[in-house]
Amino acid sequence: MSKTQTKEQPGWGTCTQCGGLFFKPHAKTRACKAGGVHQFVDERKLLYVDAVDANGNDIWVDNPQVGANQEASWAWCEKCRGLFFVSNNGGLCQNGKHDKTGSSTYLLTKVNGTPNPGSGSYYQCSRCFGLYADLASGTKCNGGKAHEHRNANQYYTLDPDDDIVD
Ligand SMILES: [Zn+2]
Ligand SMILES: [Zn+2]
Ligand SMILES: [Zn+2]
Repeated sequence: MSKTQTKEQPGWGTCTQCGGLFFKPHAKTRACKAGGVHQFVDERKLLYVDAVDANGNDIWVDNPQVGANQEASWAWCEKCRGLFFVSNNGGLCQNGKHDKTGSSTYLLTKVNGTPNPGSGSYYQCSRCFGLYADLASGTKCNGGKAHEHRNANQYYTLDPDDDIVD
C-alpha cells in the first residue's frame, strides 16, 4: 500500500504574542487573545494530504496512510484560522468549538521526548487543542490563561529550514 500523497502549503506563521500557529493570509487581521491582532514574523510550511472534491476544493481525509512519526489529526479552523488537533473531546475556539469545515488533513511530525527550550518545538494545548510555540514572553489561550502542554513527553517539529522565532 502506498503512502498518502502530500503537498506543502506555505503561509503559516507563529503569533509572537499568543504563540499559536495560524494561516497568515486569513489570520493577520484577526483578534489575538493577547490583545490587538496576531503578529507574525516567520514563514512556515505545513504538509497536508492532497485530496480534492469534484469541484477541486481541498477536502478532509480520515485516517490517511502516513509515515511512522507523522500524525494526521490536524485541521485548519474555519473560525480562527489556527491549526488544531481534531478530537471528540473538545478543543475550544474563541466562541464554541473549532470547526474543520473546508480544511484539508494536515500532517505534523511528532517527537517522543523532552523538547529543548527555544529549539522551535511546538506543543498541543490541552485546553484549546491548538498548536503553539512556547514563547519566552508567555503564551495566551482562552480566558486569559496560558496554553497548557498536553502530553509532557511529546512535541512537534515543523520544517527545520524555516526561521525559528521565540
Ligand atoms: Zn496571537
Ligand atoms: Zn478555532
Ligand atoms: Zn490553548
